Amino acid sequence: MTISTLEPRLTDVGGVPIARLLPNKGKQPIGAWCFLDHAGPVEFAPDDSGVQVGRHPHTNLQTFSWMIEGEILHKDSLGSEQVITKHQVNVMTAGTGLTQGISHTEQSVFLHDDVGAADSSTATRNMNMVQLWIALPTDQQIERSFNHYPELPTWTEDNVELILTTGNYTAASGEHYQAPTLQYSKMVGIDVHFLEDGDVTLDLEASFEYGVLVIIGELESEGKVYQKNQLLRFHRTDVANSTSIRLVAKKGTRLMFIGGEPLNNKVLLWWNFVADNKEALKQSINDWNNGHERFGEIDSDMNRLVAPELPEGFKG
Ligand code: MN
Repeated sequence: MTISTLEPRLTDVGGVPIARLLPNKGKQPIGAWCFLDHAGPVEFAPDDSGVQVGRHPHTNLQTFSWMIEGEILHKDSLGSEQVITKHQVNVMTAGTGLTQGISHTEQSVFLHDDVGAADSSTATRNMNMVQLWIALPTDQQIERSFNHYPELPTWTEDNVELILTTGNYTAASGEHYQAPTLQYSKMVGIDVHFLEDGDVTLDLEASFEYGVLVIIGELESEGKVYQKNQLLRFHRTDVANSTSIRLVAKKGTRLMFIGGEPLNNKVLLWWNFVADNKEALKQSINDWNNGHERFGEIDSDMNRLVAPELPEGFKG
């Protein structure tokens, strides 16, 4: 199978260094997964406030947060207020169309800071998180929502721990797993953690596109080695001819396996907005910067981010 390797772009979000893998040099989304940021692993100093992302909007997408370690408080314009912690998923759905949208804030909370310096073993100032966006099918009328998933299907195959963060999957044992996570197009997301040196074989759906992010450690596949913050992308024609992929890694390596069916509509990204046409992006920029009610209000005194204008020549 041919694999292309996407390299990270290093940036900063809310005061924390980020490796951005999607979007990536004109490459299409992987299924509906259209944006991928990996933050960490990082240990915040005692005087570091960690992630502080002020009020900002989203359109025509779901934010999908996969927390491997650490704690973040999410607040949104639906009135949701939720701390996400280790091995949990948050999904915020912005809704589709020009009358919908949502806004939120994200900030680190250090729940164990009050335990005291004497018990530093329980202090959680570490963070390791992947945040993705899932483009919504714009031919569906989708309403805003926020969902928190504290429990996800987890199983082990030959010393590899798998957590199904979204979608459904049949394990090597034949056991079928279904994640509770809200979806509007067919997709899957699996956290893959090597508890020992070894390998795992993951089944592929013929209609899906796939990618694998190296979160910690290094991965071997088809005789090549991939490093932390590289994203392997499998092309659809290749997937159609292969029913599985074998991944080999050393103890401690952690991967995120994502896949999905591509959407029928265009997926354009600008700032925090997704749309299927350029005019809708312009409208969203204008609406947010003018305080339009479609984005609601958040019970937060964090700063309000300003949407940059679309550049001349933005391809629609
Ligand atoms: Mn956001």
